[in-house]
Amino acid sequence: MVIAPAIGEHVTSERNTFRLFDVDMDVVTMRESVDRLISWLDAPFSECRYAVTPNVDHVVMLRNNREFQDIYRDAHLVLADGSPLILASRLLGKPLPERVAGSELVPKLLSAIPADRQLSCFLLGAAPGVADRAARHIHERWPSVQVNGTYSPPLGFEHDDQECERILSRIADVQPELTIVGLGAPKQELWVHRHQTRLASKVALCVGATIDFLAGEKVQAPVWMRRWGLEWTHRLASEPRRLFGRYAKDAWIFPQLVWKEYWRCPKRQA
Ligand code: UDP
Repeated sequence: MVIAPAIGEHVTSERNTFRLFDVDMDVVTMRESVDRLISWLDAPFSECRYAVTPNVDHVVMLRNNREFQDIYRDAHLVLADGSPLILASRLLGKPLPERVAGSELVPKLLSAIPADRQLSCFLLGAAPGVADRAARHIHERWPSVQVNGTYSPPLGFEHDDQECERILSRIADVQPELTIVGLGAPKQELWVHRHQTRLASKVALCVGATIDFLAGEKVQAPVWMRRWGLEWTHRLASEPRRLFGRYAKDAWIFPQLVWKEYWRCPKRQA
């Protein structure tokens, strides 16, 4: 085992990570992330491995949330989903190669499944009916992916043990290779982490609004906006009431975190 330095690169035989804002982010491209997930899906089941996709809002939330920090520490893949994180990594001397957004990772992963391989998949989250619509779209676009279960848990389900048991047994009944979890952060990460040892799925991806995008319920920002780091303006315009307060807080706190991290950076201390 390698002891991680406070900030900087951390290389083990399996992972190359870079510690940024107290999170060990995997230094991987989209392609490498897809390859890693496929290798887990192709391996025999041993435990449920999970991937998280931190963005600026997660980093801001994480600083006062010990449980959220533990979840990120225990995650099997931590993918930087946000251009500000990529820019910050460059400023801090160890660039992350590119943004790996959950909403782009899922379609890329499903497209990478060979035509002669059947992949079973479960969709957990989104409003009632949305995951079923996403399942239909998945089936049309990726015929070798079989969605063998969907579930939209009721509000507050995470505090209801019986409801959590019900979700776990629904998943156990179909044993999907892949579970796409779209419950919003930090709920999705907390739930997966809490139930990881009983999740009968090889891989769980905590990917926010991805089920909505797959269903066509929400429209993703155009590619040029994503490329130029402007996706947040698109999301803000589509859900101003929900997101304005959050983005205002993030815009105030995130630069302070970057500033702090800049002064802790090993290159500056040398
Ligand atoms: N969601 C859910 N159950 C909940 C809370 C949220 O299924 O108890 C779903 C919601 O319907 C939406 C997704 O979680 O599909 C929220 O994704 P988003 O990335 O917008 O979440 P954020 O982390 O930005 O709040």
